[in-house]
Amino acid sequence: MAQKTALIVYAHQSPGSFNAAARDVAVEELTSQGFKVTVSDLYAMNFRSSTTRDDVIGELKNPDLFQYGEETMLAWMESRLSDDIVAEQKKVEEAELVIFQFPLYWFSVPAILKGWMDRVLTQGFAFSLQKMYNHGVFKDKKAVLSFTTGATSSMFQPDGINGDINVALWPLQNGTLHFCGFRVLAPQIFWGPAHCPAGVRTAMLAGWRSRLKGLLAEPPLTFAPCELFDLSFQGGFLLRPEVKEELAPQRYGITTGHHLGKPLPPDNQTKAPPTDN
Ligand SMILES: Cc1cc2nc3c(=O)[nH]c(=O)nc-3n(C[C@H](O)[C@H](O)[C@H](O)COP(=O)(O)OP(=O)(O)OC[C@H]3O[C@@H](n4cnc5c(N)ncnc54)[C@H](O)[C@@H]3O)c2cc1C
Repeated sequence: MAQKTALIVYAHQSPGSFNAAARDVAVEELTSQGFKVTVSDLYAMNFRSSTTRDDVIGELKNPDLFQYGEETMLAWMESRLSDDIVAEQKKVEEAELVIFQFPLYWFSVPAILKGWMDRVLTQGFAFSLQKMYNHGVFKDKKAVLSFTTGATSSMFQPDGINGDINVALWPLQNGTLHFCGFRVLAPQIFWGPAHCPAGVRTAMLAGWRSRLKGLLAEPPLTFAPCELFDLSFQGGFLLRPEVKEELAPQRYGITTGHHLGKPLPPDNQTKAPPTDN
């Protein structure tokens, strides 16, 4: 049987950071489970975050009006993407599990990791209009956001000063990962490690290690499947009327994003729904 492979896309500058410790726990635990673990240490690699013409080798299709998405899709088809992108795409292709390890920056990922997403997840390689969401290219892969915050968990409650963490996670988990097909596992959130006693930090790392033991068996978060929508430009990619009617009596919206003007389903982006068994 082929060896299971995990990719950790890691974005922290300091080897002494809590993020580095969380990365090391994942490397150790997954390796001990027989995984081949690859780490993309983005700062150490000096990974470029900007999307530029340099990402395409050779002539541009339209040098007068550079369109990054178009040009990189063509370049992907013709094997003309820059070497650093191709190397990362190969790692993604090989991995059945991708862990993103980072400190939360402005309710999102650090720029260097956003750059990895912008540059590596190119059209054709990671998505197309035919292959998106639950039909996405990476539908047989799992992904998880593992991140630290400066804030406490209460600050990210629906009644906390920062607002609901589920809302903050929607663009990354739905708009990027699930869009490319990944089955997104519940995020691993290390709340404010810089502001808690050493013992609590040690316990957080132990919790991560223990979760990693069964990570791949966890059910993924739920999203709205493409089948609920009219997938045409005429239909505006809107929820089909009969589906809307069927969902009308339900108390909650479908997901954090597809709230339909109703209360958000609680913890939709932080917890998988309970399974029947
Ligand atoms: C530009 C920017 C934007 C930001 N935006 C946000 C935001 O929107 N929301 C938000 O909440 N926060 C935000 N922050 C804060 C940021 O998310 C936190 O500073 C970061 O997540 C803390 O993680 P760290 O790994 O850097 O912690 P560190 O400071 O590296 O680590 C915390 C503590 O853990 C200790 N430690 C290291 N290794 C271990 C180990 N093995 N065992 C036990 N302890 C260990 C360290 O020594 C340290 O004492 C932002 C920060 C910046 C710079």
